[in-house]
Amino acid sequence: MTISVRGSFNKTKCSVCGEYVFDRYVRMKDGKSVCIPCSEYEKTVLIER
Ligand SMILES: [Zn+2]
Repeated sequence: MTISVRGSFNKTKCSVCGEYVFDRYVRMKDGKSVCIPCSEYEKTVLIER
């Protein structure tokens, strides 16, 4: 059990969508930091409205 560790949740900017995501949810793709949605849906989903 750790006592309040504020500031331990760093955020990184996703190089695809530009959103800031927690480091633990960031994935490296081609040397770039991307969020999970961007890394998994890379070319698959083009949402049509
Ligand atoms: Zn993203």
